[in-house]
Amino acid sequence: MEQLTGRTTQILVVDDDIFVREMISDILESLGFTIYQAEHGKEALSYLEQNNMINLIVSDLNMPEMNGLELVDAVRQFNGDIPIIILTVNSEIETAIQAIQKGADDYILKGSAIAETLPLSVAKVLEIFDLKMQNRELIQDLSRKNAELEQLAFLDGLTGIPNRRFYDLTLTSMWHTAKRNGTSISMIMTDIDRFKQLNDTLGHHYGDLCIQAVAKTFNRTLTTKNAVIARFGGDEFVAVLPETTAEEAAAVAEQMRENIMKLRIKDPETGAIKEFTMSFGVFGVIPANDSIAESLFESADKALYTSKESGRNRVSIQE
Ligand code: GH3
Ligand code: MG
Repeated sequence: MEQLTGRTTQILVVDDDIFVREMISDILESLGFTIYQAEHGKEALSYLEQNNMINLIVSDLNMPEMNGLELVDAVRQFNGDIPIIILTVNSEIETAIQAIQKGADDYILKGSAIAETLPLSVAKVLEIFDLKMQNRELIQDLSRKNAELEQLAFLDGLTGIPNRRFYDLTLTSMWHTAKRNGTSISMIMTDIDRFKQLNDTLGHHYGDLCIQAVAKTFNRTLTTKNAVIARFGGDEFVAVLPETTAEEAAAVAEQMRENIMKLRIKDPETGAIKEFTMSFGVFGVIPANDSIAESLFESADKALYTSKESGRNRVSIQE
C-alpha cells in the first residue's frame, strides 16, 4: 500500500487500551506505514501540534481526558482535511455516527475482522483525501487559467464590456484618426465614489452588482457614434468619444451622473438597497501633430481627481 501511495504515510493511532493500540499499530506497520501512538485525545492533539506530518488519525471513541468525539471536533477546528477513522464497538455505533457527522471520514468495528477492514478503510480514506487535494489543485489551476484568459481576451468578465486591453488598442487608433482628420476627440473617466465602503457594508457581491449596473447605465447613456466604453479596472470606467468636443462629452457625463444617482440596486438575498454616486473627469481636444494618446488619458484623469478632491459626485472638465 505504501508503494501504491508513493510517499511515507504517517498514522497516529489513538486508544487508551494498550492491547488495541499495539494490535492496530502492528496491522498498519505490516503495510509499511509509519506509526505514532497516543493514549487519548489530549495527547493526540499535542502530538498533532508538534508534528504536522501526520497523514491520518485512527482513533478510539471512549477514552479518558478527551474522547474520540471531542478529538474530531478539536482536529476539525484547525485541520479540515486530515482523514480520521473511528474505532468502535457495536454498542457505540451511534456515537461513531455522530463522529462522522462531526467530520470523521469512516468508522470500523473492533472485532475479529479488523485485520481486513482496517486496511480497506485506510486505503479508501487516503484515496479520497488524495482525490480531494488533486481536485482542489485542479480548481485553483483552472481559475488561474481563466483569469489569464480573461486578461488576454478583450472583454471584462464581470460586465461583458471591453476591458483595458481593448481600450489600450483602440485609444491609439482613435487618437491617430482624430489627428489625421483634425477632429476633436474626448474622454470621460469615471470612478464610483467610496466604493470600498459600499463593498464593506453590503459585501463584495453587492459591489459586483453595482459595477455591472454602471456598465449597463454607461452603455445606455452614451449614444455617441463609434464611442468605446471600457472597464478600466476595479470601479473605474473610461469612454473615448470620437468627433466630440469637451462640452459635448461633459453633457454625456452629466447625464450619466444623474442616471447613476437614480439607480436602486436590490441585493437579491437581503433586499438591501444602497444608492451611490460617481465622479467624472472630462477632457477633449483636437490632437496636435506631436501629441500622444496618453495625454488624453492624463488630462481626463486629472479632471477626475479634481472631482474627487472637490467633493465627488460631479463632472470636472480639464482645460
Ligand atoms: P473614491 O471615492 O476615492 O474612489 O473611494 P473608493 O473607496 O471608491 O476608492 P477606490 O476607487 O480606490 O476603491 C476601489 C475599490 O474597488 C477597491 C476594491 O476593493 C474594489 N474593487 C475592485 N475591483 C472590484 C470588483 O471587481 N468587485 C468589487 N465588488 N469590488 C472591487
Ligand atoms: Mg472609487
